[in-house]
Amino acid sequence: MCGILGFIGWEPIASRLVAAADRLQTRGDHSTGAATFDGAFFWDHGGLGPASQVFAGYDLAQLRGTVGIAHTRYATTGGGTKERLLRNRQPVASDRPGLRTCANGDLVNLSSLRRSLMQKGYAFQTEVDAKVIQNVLIERMLELRVHEAADTADYVARLFHAVEGLHGDLVGAYSCLTITERGLLAFKDPKGIRPCSVAFRDQPGASGAREVAFASESSVFNYFGDYHDIRELEPGEMIFVERDTLRVHRSRYGTGRGAFCFFEFVYFARPDSKFMGRVVETARRDLGKELAREFSAQRERVDVVLGVPGTGVSAGIAMAHEWGIPFEHGIIKVGSKRSFQESSQEKREKAIDEKFLFIKEFIDGKRVAVVDDSNVRGTTARRLAERLFQLGARGVHLYYFCPKVIGPCFYGIDTPDESHLVAVGRSDEEIRQWIGATSVNYIPIEGLIRGLRLPEDELCLACVTRRYPTPVAEAQERVMLRNSEQAAERVACAEWPK
Ligand code: SF4
Repeated sequence: MCGILGFIGWEPIASRLVAAADRLQTRGDHSTGAATFDGAFFWDHGGLGPASQVFAGYDLAQLRGTVGIAHTRYATTGGGTKERLLRNRQPVASDRPGLRTCANGDLVNLSSLRRSLMQKGYAFQTEVDAKVIQNVLIERMLELRVHEAADTADYVARLFHAVEGLHGDLVGAYSCLTITERGLLAFKDPKGIRPCSVAFRDQPGASGAREVAFASESSVFNYFGDYHDIRELEPGEMIFVERDTLRVHRSRYGTGRGAFCFFEFVYFARPDSKFMGRVVETARRDLGKELAREFSAQRERVDVVLGVPGTGVSAGIAMAHEWGIPFEHGIIKVGSKRSFQESSQEKREKAIDEKFLFIKEFIDGKRVAVVDDSNVRGTTARRLAERLFQLGARGVHLYYFCPKVIGPCFYGIDTPDESHLVAVGRSDEEIRQWIGATSVNYIPIEGLIRGLRLPEDELCLACVTRRYPTPVAEAQERVMLRNSEQAAERVACAEWPK
């Protein structure tokens, strides 16, 4: 899970790029990197940690040029040790042709693509999908002799043709940004699984120049406040912006329906981001209302509703409102770390104690309903129930506005394999007993769809239905890679200096 950013305009882009990376750190902070191009040279800077750390004391004037991309990384693979995180930071580089690329998402067929590229003479110093994607793009660009294009129109036509060829090779989820020596290219996989928005900013005055910007989440554009015509890229859409003229070219691969990750709404995205015309915050609120309707018969067994920050609060308030009972901010979050950003199970469990404060007066002697987004491994729920009972709760009823997670994600969200999913292989009663709550309640898939108010056949719901939007025949190899890295990580992290 990562954040990608790209800007191409009329003025040096570095400060905007870094400010935007800071905004997207919620999607990952294992590493942060940026690359720019000034017409002659590429300029790169990056390192481990968030932008505030990586760019502290760095002279942004060194990131020269009016086109740049940046990446905030959560490592699903290619992490585990500091060395691996460092060599796998993005954007990735190429000198033939001159490219910088960053990507969000996971390729299902990463291993076989790597093997076939290695047979063609490519050597890999990194394990990231972005490097494989860039090398496949290079293959296609060389095959179509993009560098010999007669003029810009010919260049763009060949480049788009190369991206179309790439789509035939890749299986999985990928939203990508690539700086070429002539401009900035953005493209999304044919299912549009991972997010990427485009937006425009006008140069003040009458010049007519217009910056084009890309970001995993539109929250970035809200932060700056001076962007317009913000929209999500369509599945398979590709956009190329010329560096010299800022002229925009657009095409689309295929006409099929997309499969946008519903988990962005439920858990990942910032509340002010907007996908498919839906603001995340209002979707979460509507999912809370759906929970209330779905479980209306249970209203009498609850005295107060609490929400788990930061996603469960708006849903909890909506549920309490529908039920006509009080909502209390009985769980308060301290710090900005999200549980998924913790690199190991042990750290995730510890984070629950470190990141939440509980207000005993709202809990003691009460039958509490707790609203949260999802229950993946069950460890947060277990610790939460334990804490609430310790603080005097007479009953702890857990409500989730994500259905039971029953399948792993192969597209870049770090959900574990089946053996670590609490809802796999356990009956409802066994889940409840294992967690130690009074009741555990999940929104059904129909309730999720009603709450999201989006067409079911334009969403990826694979982790709650096991119906994957792409072939997943090679997924097992990827899962094994991830598992082996996470096992290595547990050893390596123990050795890191504190
Ligand atoms: Fe999102 Fe689940 Fe699909 Fe992964 S499997 S992309 S988490 S909906």
